[in-house]
Amino acid sequence: MEIEIATIGGYEEVGRQMTAVRAGEDIVIFDMGLNLSKVLIHDNVETEKMHSLDLIDMGAIPDDRVMSELEGDVQAIVPTHGHLDHIAAIPKLAHRYDAPIVATPFTIELVRQQIQDEGKFQVDNDLVKMNAGGTMAIGDSEQVELEFVNVAHSVIDAINPVLHTPEGAVVYGLDKRMDHSPVIGDPIDMDRFREIGREGEGVLCYIEDCTNAGRKGRTPSESVAREHLHDVMRSVEDYDGGIVATTFSSHIARVSSLVEFAREIGRQPVLLGRSMEKYSGTAERLDFVDFPGDLGMYGHRKSVDRTFKRIMKEGKENYLPIVTGHQGEPRAMLTRMGRGETPYELDDGDKVIFSARVIPEPTNEGQRYQSEQLLRMQGARIYDDIHVSGHLREEGHYTMLDALQPQHVIPAHQNLEGLAPYVDLCRSQGYKLDRDLHVTENGNVFQLVE
Ligand SMILES: [Zn+2]
Repeated sequence: MEIEIATIGGYEEVGRQMTAVRAGEDIVIFDMGLNLSKVLIHDNVETEKMHSLDLIDMGAIPDDRVMSELEGDVQAIVPTHGHLDHIAAIPKLAHRYDAPIVATPFTIELVRQQIQDEGKFQVDNDLVKMNAGGTMAIGDSEQVELEFVNVAHSVIDAINPVLHTPEGAVVYGLDKRMDHSPVIGDPIDMDRFREIGREGEGVLCYIEDCTNAGRKGRTPSESVAREHLHDVMRSVEDYDGGIVATTFSSHIARVSSLVEFAREIGRQPVLLGRSMEKYSGTAERLDFVDFPGDLGMYGHRKSVDRTFKRIMKEGKENYLPIVTGHQGEPRAMLTRMGRGETPYELDDGDKVIFSARVIPEPTNEGQRYQSEQLLRMQGARIYDDIHVSGHLREEGHYTMLDALQPQHVIPAHQNLEGLAPYVDLCRSQGYKLDRDLHVTENGNVFQLVE
C-alpha cells in the first residue's frame, strides 16, 4: 500500500500544526492549529471574521493547498488535544473536507466551541467522540485503522493517534509528557506504545514533538508541580493580605490543585477571566473534575468587577482569585490588575503566584516582563515558574524511540534550531539524515512506501 506524509504546518515553528497521512486511497489529517503569535502581533485582529487565505498569508494557519497533491479521500480530521495550536484552524479549514472530526470528549467539546465562534465559514463536519484506547476503521479497505493511545499533557484528555496500515503503524507523537502520576487522568500508556513497536510490521514512521528536545533529563510529573505549588501556598498561609494566582486556563489539573490548596489555607478560590470560565466550566460539565459546589467562575467584565468589589469589601485575606494573564497578555485579568484597571487593589507585600513558565518567545517575554513590573510597582511579591512542561525532554525522547523502534522518524513542533537536538539524538541511535530521519519544512509531501 502506498504511504505518503504531507507535513503541512508546524514543521518550522511551534504553532499551526497540521499533518496528513495517506494510506492507499484513504487520508487522515492530524491537527489543524493556529500560530497565535502571528495573530497577537497585530492589534485588533479578529480571526473569527477573517478569510482562510488571509490567515494563511499571515502564517497564522496551515497552508493546506498542498493537500491537492495527495490522491485520496480525507476520511477523518483528528485533533490530538485541545490546545489552540492544534485545534484553532478547524473553523477556517475543516469545511473544505467531507470528513468527520474525531477526537476525545474534552477535545471535541472545545472544537465545538471554536466552531460556534466562527463568523465567516459554516463548518458542519460531524463531531465524533472516541476515547483513549478506542479504535476506528478508516475507509472501506478494511486494512487501515485509527487508534488513540492515552498520553499525559498539560491539558486533559490528550492522546497520540496511531494509523495502522499494512505497511506498519504511523504514530503521530505530538504533545506529551511521560507522566506516570498525573493529577487528573490516566498515566501515559507506555505498555501500548511498546506493543505497537513490536506487533505486525512495527512502526513505519514516528512524528515527534521536539518542543523540549534540547533539555536534558526527563520532564517531571504534574504531581511534582502540584507539590511545588503546595509548598508555596503553605508558605504564605499566615499572610493576611491579598494572594492572587494565575496559570494556563486550559490546564485543568493545575487549576484544580490551586482550588484545593486555596481552601486548605482558608481562602475561598474564585476563577476570573473569560478563558478560565470557559475551560473549567467545560471540564466540570463533562465530569473531568469535581470542583466545590460554591466555586465561583466569572468571565464577563461586569461579573468579574462585581466579584472584585465583593472581595475588597469582605477582605482580600478571605479569597484566592485565580485569574488569566500568566504570559502578561495585555487584555488578561492579571495585566489589568497590574495596571490598576480593576477594583482589586494590590498592597505592599501582596503575593502573586505564576503557576506557569514564560513561553520563550520575544512577544511573550516582553509582555510578561511588563506585567510583572506593573505588579511589582504596586508592591506585589512574585512567585514564578511553579510549573512543569507538557513536553518530553531528551530522556523521554530516547525512551519513545526505544519503545517504538520506528523505521522512519520525522521531527516536528519546532523551528530548525529547535529540531537540531532531536536530530542529534536520532543520529546517536543509528538514524541517518535523508535515509530514515527526515528533517522537513511546511508544505512538503514525501512518499515512505511506493
Ligand atoms: Zn499542546
